[in-house]
Amino acid sequence: MPYVGQCLCGAVSYSISGEITDVIYCHCAMCQKLSGSAFIAYGSVLHQDIHIIGRVNIQTFNATSGAQRKFCQCCGSTLFWQDEGDYGKRYLCVALGTLDSGFDPQDWQHYYTENKASWFAIQDGHIQHRTKP
Ligand SMILES: [Zn+2]
Ligand SMILES: [Zn+2]
Repeated sequence: MPYVGQCLCGAVSYSISGEITDVIYCHCAMCQKLSGSAFIAYGSVLHQDIHIIGRVNIQTFNATSGAQRKFCQCCGSTLFWQDEGDYGKRYLCVALGTLDSGFDPQDWQHYYTENKASWFAIQDGHIQHRTKP
């Protein structure tokens, strides 16, 4: 059964026919700014496994060289993160908050805990990395 998701306004939607892997909760300062919250949860999907509708409404922002942050130009929802190196050639990282389907990851990791918001406590037992491992 595929996963489906969309931005807040629905101008961009997607379906995922394969697995969602490499789930991370990124606490870096950029993800905090972009989301207006404590972290962004991302999962990776193979490009061939995701079908996106409304691509014309996707805007790209390069907060740093080597990575593209993609969001809906109509409502501002954070949608995707794409590495510009080898990883990004295979995988697109999907912001899991945009999923409409249920998703029950068996494992995940915390990245950039050295930047973690002081007002947020990590209360699960999953692996924490001070930066990106
Ligand atoms: Zn939107
Ligand atoms: Zn981040």
